[in-house]
Amino acid sequence: MTTLIWLRDDLRLADHPALTAACAAAHGPVVALWIHETRRTDEENNRHGPRPLGAAARWWYHRSLQQLAPRLANLGIPLVLARGDAANVMRRVVDTVQPTCVHWTRRYAPAACRLDAAIKQELNSCTEVHSHPGSLLVEPWLMQTANGSHYQVFTPFSRAVADLPLGALLPEPSPVDAPDGAATALSTLREDGVLQNLEDLGLLDDGPAWWDDTLEQHWEPGELAARQQLDAIDGWLPGYAKRRDLPGEERSTSRISPRLRCGELSPRQALTAARSSTAAGEDIAAWTRQLYWREFCWHLLHYRGDLEDTPMRSAFAEFPYRPDDHLARAWRQGRTGIDLVDGGMWQLWQAGWMHNRVRMVAASLFTKNMLQPWQDGEQWFWDTLVDADEAINPVSWQWVAGSGADAAPYFRVFNPELQRSRFDPRSCYVERWIPAGLDRPIVPVVNLAESRREALAAYQQVSAASAADARPERG
Ligand SMILES: Cc1cc2nc3c(=O)[nH]c(=O)nc-3n(C[C@H](O)[C@H](O)[C@H](O)COP(=O)(O)OP(=O)(O)OC[C@H]3O[C@@H](n4cnc5c(N)ncnc54)[C@H](O)[C@@H]3O)c2cc1C
Repeated sequence: MTTLIWLRDDLRLADHPALTAACAAAHGPVVALWIHETRRTDEENNRHGPRPLGAAARWWYHRSLQQLAPRLANLGIPLVLARGDAANVMRRVVDTVQPTCVHWTRRYAPAACRLDAAIKQELNSCTEVHSHPGSLLVEPWLMQTANGSHYQVFTPFSRAVADLPLGALLPEPSPVDAPDGAATALSTLREDGVLQNLEDLGLLDDGPAWWDDTLEQHWEPGELAARQQLDAIDGWLPGYAKRRDLPGEERSTSRISPRLRCGELSPRQALTAARSSTAAGEDIAAWTRQLYWREFCWHLLHYRGDLEDTPMRSAFAEFPYRPDDHLARAWRQGRTGIDLVDGGMWQLWQAGWMHNRVRMVAASLFTKNMLQPWQDGEQWFWDTLVDADEAINPVSWQWVAGSGADAAPYFRVFNPELQRSRFDPRSCYVERWIPAGLDRPIVPVVNLAESRREALAAYQQVSAASAADARPERG
């Protein structure tokens, strides 16, 4: 009579519909499973499974799982871990544990949906499978424009989401009975090598050696720390509307992005906290708007699974990028000679995170002044951001590059020097992050005025029609 809950990007106990349902319906032990997943591609080139985690996000998941295991154990739920193809792992686990019921939180990227649907179909012959909401404010298929299609423009989408009822948040479930009921099956799986220790999952492989120290200085993964951060909202939300563009300010933005990424917080918890905060209306509105941007990115990804490497505007497939190793390396290493961008790239390298304003400027320099393919910059962010998000990262890169839905207009090329003097006037940010004595070029690796002209000329080569209907929506 075991119940299995397959955890994915929902590493929390509170406001967790799948976990709540698993515990409420259990007539015996409940076992939680998390898989470090690999991704498959079939003969038709369809991807199956979520995009494999980048190195910084893997660090986060490792630490977050470490925090989650004893909390689940307090509820009488063992957390078991595996690595590999999720369909194979699920098959082995279900064969051995023989659960009466499997629960999970839905995923929305088409490649993950394909995998989950296949697993569900296979398991349905021997067990019940229930999927639940939990990672978004609203299921993408419930959001339709008046003509029945999905949204491609942010403003009407955000209005529609804002009008939806949120519902009450779910508390942490109560402890379950029979905590050791599945022990024999689990030890068989361990002996067979299906289940592994956290240390053997490989989540900490491949990142730079110093990350473990530096990331730890900046972050405390885990649901409890996440909730403390959200509970302190009346301390950091007031002033957000004015401060959010100032990367040098200590509490410029919330920094909850990695928490939402791995589901230590649900977006409903975030929105509920904002709506009940004592901050001014303009601050609440500015912050909830960002949560709606997150939602919009996932809405787009749900309907277009190839966002991570394919431009949404097809004309951009012909964009005359000029891949250049020397320029790309200078950008990645924070040695462009352009202060704000170098500061951002060093913040990224040391803290696994970068302020939003600086992300936009760094991405603009990379794709426009340097004419490097946005996919290369997106991949670097994917590997180095603790909040690397399957929807937000590619949508944001495409937004900056001009190839996305509702994208920044192609002629908007940020001037990083003006951006620095406007948003980091006292150079607090730049001085905070660029290591003292770093060997950087005195003359920037690209001439900003000249490269801007070249970028605009290159943009004119792509379809005017494609660029003309771009709408400047954020910034
Ligand atoms: C090139 C580029 C790449 C990006 N890649 C990612 C990414 O991989 N993961 C990620 O979470 N964000 C990404 N962003 C969006 C944004 O920079 C981060 O969400 C934000 O900096 C996170 O900090 P915060 O939690 O303090 O944000 P806050 O300002 O406090 O916002 C609260 C939450 O709203 C959401 N949010 C904020 N800004 C945006 C935005 N512009 N688009 C969508 N959702 C938003 C995030 O979930 C964020 O945690 C990217 C932006 C750019 C320009």
